[in-house]
Amino acid sequence: MNIHEYQAKALLRSYGAPVSDGRVVLKADEAKSAAGELGGPLWVVKAQIHAGGRGKGKFKEPEAGEKGGVRLAKSVGEAAELAKQMLGRTLVTHQTGPAGKQVNRIYIEEGSDISRELYLALLVDRGTSRISFVVSTEGGMDIEEVAAHTPEKIVSFSVDPASGLSDFHGRRVAFALGLEGAQVKQCVALVKNLYRAFVEKDMEMLEINPLIVMTDGNLKVLDAKVGFDNNALYRQPDVMALRDETEEDPKELAASKFDLNYIALDGEIGCMVNGAGLAMATMDIIKLYGAEPANFLDVGGGATKEKVTEAFKIITSDPNVKGILVNIFGGIMRCDIIAEGILAAVKEVGLQVPLVVRLEGTNVEKGKEIIANSGLNVIAGDNLSDAAQKIVKAVKG
Ligand code: GDP
Ligand code: MG
Repeated sequence: MNIHEYQAKALLRSYGAPVSDGRVVLKADEAKSAAGELGGPLWVVKAQIHAGGRGKGKFKEPEAGEKGGVRLAKSVGEAAELAKQMLGRTLVTHQTGPAGKQVNRIYIEEGSDISRELYLALLVDRGTSRISFVVSTEGGMDIEEVAAHTPEKIVSFSVDPASGLSDFHGRRVAFALGLEGAQVKQCVALVKNLYRAFVEKDMEMLEINPLIVMTDGNLKVLDAKVGFDNNALYRQPDVMALRDETEEDPKELAASKFDLNYIALDGEIGCMVNGAGLAMATMDIIKLYGAEPANFLDVGGGATKEKVTEAFKIITSDPNVKGILVNIFGGIMRCDIIAEGILAAVKEVGLQVPLVVRLEGTNVEKGKEIIANSGLNVIAGDNLSDAAQKIVKAVKG
């Protein structure tokens, strides 16, 4: 789960990290008083969306101006004006995809005078099963670009969880960033605070880009992007409260409410499968026969009729779906339950596209019988490969 920059900054502030004072604005008429609560002479007006690259992004609507989602203002009036221009508009960045994201929240912050922009991130490194630091002097830009063209400018190391974090790690970060004197001490404290926040809040990623050296020599967190481990959210109610559902794919959101493992993809064949491994294999075989899956969906081992119905509704709500492949191996899951779920869903939402069903395992005969007697136009698949070929043929002709 991701949160907005202003939420991440509030969280990091509570851990003692240096961030600017700021106000979040949800409605245009709040902008002026929000900006007025901050001291000038510089204000930064920042579009809040769950995507990076806002500064270099572009709004779809010309009324929002040409200059991207992070803008500097020299007066309260100008800051309020910029906030009004951006609210409700669609910002396109290299991370949003061409559709962009609607800006529903604006963060107005006290502006900082920047001397250097640096990069500092913490993430869970699955290779070493440890928390890793990624550090670079090339902050403020796309870190993927730095990695591609000047990888020597990225320093990375991981922390042994047995001995934990010590001042040594903070000094290592400071050295990699070329910090001096009092900055080193600030960096050691910052690294400690970030690490503590990361562990205590079950973060998956914490990216500060840029961390800045101000003209007065002090460090400040100027941008912050935080992702949390979804599997740990049950023990992080404070984090859960920060969830902004408008930022999530509505299909994935609906799936999460029914405890379905669903990931939206770009293809044309909707898949309903039980078991993550079988779901992956189903996606692979669809590709093998020349089409693309519209989603990953694992309905799980103990799915109920209601869950199957919801899953089916989510798949059919995707306008890209031109055909559906149901591939169920009934072990714990019974094939007749799946068949009933499909019928219930079709009754509710109708069936506008071809549907291929392949059932195998517990109560398979009963399941097939339910579908055969339903009067629905369902194509039966005899095995995985047969089913995949049939749905690709039905969609592509
Ligand atoms: P992003 O584009 O989504 O990563 O948004 P950032 O918060 O990183 O802002 C983009 C860029 O705007 C930064 O790299 C800075 O160069 C600039 N910027 C942001 N805040 C300030 C500020 O307080 N003062 C100045 N002078 N520039 C800022
Ligand atoms: Mg940034």
